Amino acid sequence: MNGINHKRIAGKSLHYLSEPVRKFWQPQELLEDASNFPDIFWPGENSSPDYIQKYPDWKEYIMIPCNDTLVNCHSAFDSLKIWETYPVVLNFLVHRALDAMDSGDQELAVKIAGVLSHIIGDTGQAAHVFDSMQLSLLFQGDEDIYLIHSLIENNPMVSYPDHPYTARCLGDNVDEFLWRLLQELVKLKKRSTRTIVPIMTATLKDDLDTAAQYASATVGECADLFADVLYTLTLIHLREKKGPDAMSLLQLEPERWHCDGMFNFLPQKNYIPGPTRRTPLPLHIGNGPQLGIALLPDMFPGCTGGRCAFVEYPLPPGVFQKFTFSCGLNRAADRNETAGIFEIRLDDKTVWESPALDIHSPSVSAEVNLGRAERLQLLVKDARRDTAETKFFYPCFIEPVLWRN
Ligand SMILES: [Zn+2]
Repeated sequence: MNGINHKRIAGKSLHYLSEPVRKFWQPQELLEDASNFPDIFWPGENSSPDYIQKYPDWKEYIMIPCNDTLVNCHSAFDSLKIWETYPVVLNFLVHRALDAMDSGDQELAVKIAGVLSHIIGDTGQAAHVFDSMQLSLLFQGDEDIYLIHSLIENNPMVSYPDHPYTARCLGDNVDEFLWRLLQELVKLKKRSTRTIVPIMTATLKDDLDTAAQYASATVGECADLFADVLYTLTLIHLREKKGPDAMSLLQLEPERWHCDGMFNFLPQKNYIPGPTRRTPLPLHIGNGPQLGIALLPDMFPGCTGGRCAFVEYPLPPGVFQKFTFSCGLNRAADRNETAGIFEIRLDDKTVWESPALDIHSPSVSAEVNLGRAERLQLLVKDARRDTAETKFFYPCFIEPVLWRN
C-alpha cells in the first residue's frame, strides 16, 4: 500500500470498534503515523532524522529478532512467502503489544499495532502478492515500457469504501490469535491476487475508475482485518473469551497439499470439476450432496511410489480438542474403479485409518482427539497394493470440523 492507504486502514479500523475498545487505540493520529513506520524506518539508522527524533524508540517495534539477529521489519516479512516469513514477525509483534498493554504502556501498544496494520496493508496490496516478473510476462507488451508495480499501487482514484463492519474475535489466547491471523492474511492475499487481472485489464484501457473499485475494496478489507486485530488484542488483554466454539476446515486455508492436475493441483471445496464450467459435480458419499473437501490422488501411478493425495492445516496446539468428519467415495463422479483408504495424521503420525472404502461402502464417520498437535493432515491413498494401472476414484472428506470442547 502507499502511505495514504496505510493511514486509511489504520484510522478507519477504529470505526468498527465499540467505544470501550476504541479507547485502547488512541490517539488515532499516532496509530495512523505508526501504520507507515515499516516504510519510514526501513533505512534503519539512515531513516529521516526528523522521524528518528520524533520516535527515538523506533528500534523497539522495527527491529525483529529472527534467528538470533535483529532484522528490520520490512526485510523480515515477505508477502510472497507468508507461511515461511510471517510467523516470527507476527509472534514478536503480538507478544510485544500484549506486554505493552499489560504494563500500561498504551503508547507503545499503539505503535506496535500500527506496524501490524502496515503488514496487513502490504499483504492486501495487489502489487505485492504476485511475482513481478510473471506479471510482466502476462501484461507487458514488447514496446510497452513502464513499472507495473507503481501502476497497480498508485492509482489516484482509490478511495476508502465506507461500509458497516463489526470486528471479530480471532482467538481466546495468543496461540489461537497468531494461528488465525496468519489464516486471515493468507485469505486476504488470495482475494487480492484475484483482483490483479481485473485491475490490469481496466488500467491498460486507461479506466482508472474501474481499477480503483477493486483496489478500494481491498483497502476496506484490510481495515476490517485490522479492526479484528485491535479487538482481539483488547479481549486477550482483558482475559475475555469470545472465540468460536467450532471451526470448519472449509473456512481455513491449507499450508500444504498434494492433488492431481485434473483438480488444478488443488483440493476442491464442496464440488469437483464436471463436464463444463457451469456444471460442477457435488460431493455425494451416499447421503446426498454435502459440503466438504475433495482430493484427487495422482492419476499416473508409479512416478512417486503409490497414489495418494493430501491436504494439511496448521493447528494452534491445545486450542481445539477434537476433529470430526465423515469420508467416502463420490457417487456423483462418473466412475470409481478402485477403493480408497482414508487417513488422519497428526504431526506426521497416522492416528486414524479407514478400511478400504469402495463405491458400495457406506460412508464412515469419525472423531479424532487432537491433543496438542500442530499439524492436521487428511490423506487418502489407493487401496490396491500394486498401483501400476490408473483407476479412477474420487475421495471426499465431508463436514470436517475442529471443536473447542
Ligand atoms: Zn511497506
